[in-house]
Amino acid sequence: MLIVMHHHASQEQIDQVITAVEALGLRAEPIPGSLRTAIGVLGNQGYVDDSSIRTLPGVRETIHVSKPYKLVSRDFHPVSTVVEVSGVRFGDGQKPVMIAGPCSVETEQQILDAAAQVKAAGAQMLRGGAFKPRTGPHSFQGLGVEGLKLLQQAGRASGLPVVTEVMRIEQLEVVCQHADMLQIGARNMQNFDLLKEVGKIRHPVLLKRGMSATLEEFLAAAEYIVAEGNEQVVLCERGIRTFENTTRNTLDLSVVPLIRDMSHLPIIVDPSHATGKRALVPVMSKAALVAGAHGLMIEVHPDPAKALCDGAQSLSGEAFTALMVEINDLLSYLEQTKDGR
Ligand code: PEP
Ligand code: MN
Repeated sequence: MLIVMHHHASQEQIDQVITAVEALGLRAEPIPGSLRTAIGVLGNQGYVDDSSIRTLPGVRETIHVSKPYKLVSRDFHPVSTVVEVSGVRFGDGQKPVMIAGPCSVETEQQILDAAAQVKAAGAQMLRGGAFKPRTGPHSFQGLGVEGLKLLQQAGRASGLPVVTEVMRIEQLEVVCQHADMLQIGARNMQNFDLLKEVGKIRHPVLLKRGMSATLEEFLAAAEYIVAEGNEQVVLCERGIRTFENTTRNTLDLSVVPLIRDMSHLPIIVDPSHATGKRALVPVMSKAALVAGAHGLMIEVHPDPAKALCDGAQSLSGEAFTALMVEINDLLSYLEQTKDGR
C-alpha cells in the first residue's frame, strides 16, 4: 500500500502515520517527493485494512498496490537509481555503459587480449564467465576460481571493472573477492535463495531476465534483492523463449521503455544472447539504445571461431571497434534530437 500525504502535511502528521502503520505490525518507508511525501507500506501479505490510517490528518489517499514488487517500482521510488560499479555509473542520464568481453574466460592470453581490445574500442566494463551455466554437462563449464583470477588480472591490466556470473550461494564469497559486479544469469533469475543472499551484500548486481520470465516476474526477482537491502541492481534484457527459433531467443526490446517507466532501476540489453547471431548484434545494439537502454553487454572474443563458448554470437575485437564507432555516431545523433529520455 502507498499512503499519499497532502502537500501541506507536516512532519508531525507524517510521523503519526508512520506510527499508525507500525502499530499494524508493518514497516513504513517515507518517500519524499518535490510536491508531497508518500509513505510506502511494506511487510503485508495481503490486503491492508487502512481504516486507521485513511482518516489521519494530512493523509490525502491510500493506494492499494497489488503488484508483487514495490521497492523497485517508481510508485514507491520515483527518482531513478544510479548504480555505480567502481566509478562506472549506470542510469545517470549520461552515456550508456558498454560492457564487453568473452562469454567465458578461457586462457590468460585470451582474456588479456579481449580486455585490451574492448578497452581500446571504448568499453567501460569487462565481462567474462568463470562459472558457466551450460545447457549440457559435456560442454566447457568454465575455469572456476582460476577464471576469476584471470578476469581480475585482465580487469586490472586494462583498468576496467569486471562483471562475472555467480551461480551458487557458496561461490558468492570468492566471486565478490574478484569481481566488481555480480551477474545473476537467466537460469537463476528465480533462484530465490541466491537472490536473497546477493541482497544481503553490497556488491552491485546485474540481474538477467529469465528466458521465460514475464516482466512482472523479472521485477519481482529484482525486488528479492532490493528487499534485503541491496539497491544496486541493474536489470538486463537478454531475450526470451518464443516459438521463433531462427534466433537463439527473441529480443523483447519493448521492456526497455516499459521498465524505464515502471521501475527506477537501470535496464541494459544483451544483444548477443538475445540473437545468438553475430550479424544481428550491431543493429540490435543500436535498436536497444534507441529504445532507451542504459547500456549494453556484448560478447567479444579475440578469435570467435576458436571460442569455447558462444563463438557464433561473439564479435571479434575489430567488429566491436567498428560497432563502437557506429554507436558513438548514433549517440551524438540521439543527443541532438533529444526527446527527453
Ligand atoms: C552470460 O551472460 O554469460 C549468460 C550465460 O547469459 P544468460 O544467463 O543470459 O544466458
Ligand atoms: Mn555467452
